[in-house]
Amino acid sequence: MDATCLFERNRRWARRMTDGDPDCFARHLAGQHPPFLWIGCADSREPAEQIVDAPPGELFVHRNIANRIDPDDTNARAVIEYAVGALHIEHIVVCGHYGCGGVRAAMEAAPTPGALGRWLEPVRRLRERHEAELATLADAERKLDRLCELNVAAQVAVVAELPSVRAAWAEGQPLSVHGWIYRLCDGLLRDLRVSVSGPGPDRPTSAGRHDDADGPERVQDADAALVGGQHVR
Ligand SMILES: [Zn+2]
Repeated sequence: MDATCLFERNRRWARRMTDGDPDCFARHLAGQHPPFLWIGCADSREPAEQIVDAPPGELFVHRNIANRIDPDDTNARAVIEYAVGALHIEHIVVCGHYGCGGVRAAMEAAPTPGALGRWLEPVRRLRERHEAELATLADAERKLDRLCELNVAAQVAVVAELPSVRAAWAEGQPLSVHGWIYRLCDGLLRDLRVSVSGPGPDRPTSAGRHDDADGPERVQDADAALVGGQHVR
């Protein structure tokens, strides 16, 4: 495919936007006030704005392979700090997807080499911690999809421990962290019911420690929520 086709598509898109609303781009110059921070997988089949039919200005977006948040990732930390501290976003959505290639790679017997392998190492450790549960599932695809769910729940737990999020809660700022998952086969989202809207009393206070990268405590909570018949492929 010739990359220049994207310019033609861009011109058509801009025309469609102004046909329906001549001032839509002019309004963007005044600034942004998105109510949602979307943390999703970089997978091309999970395009954040399109799957929730969001117009420009509604989603602040951070995407990477396997929708991970690492407490030591300056990029992700900066996105969340800005979203929470400057934009006063009220909802952080961590959204994974079934059939995630990054999670699938973390399930392979041999570790993935290079930077991708280092990035996926926490997912591999998450898989190891849940080996007993995963072993009860009938086939490889169900194991993969369950690990996709557990990965989302683990990232929600990590986000809920970040200093910027905890500071917002300490100041009484309304802020919820949600864990959702997207099904490639029908284009629908599911709520994994692992949302967090404040600093729970059982939550460790060691935000930012690498040891907590997978949020084992919160994953246990997530297990309880998900096992109750929620897993529907
Ligand atoms: Zn993915």
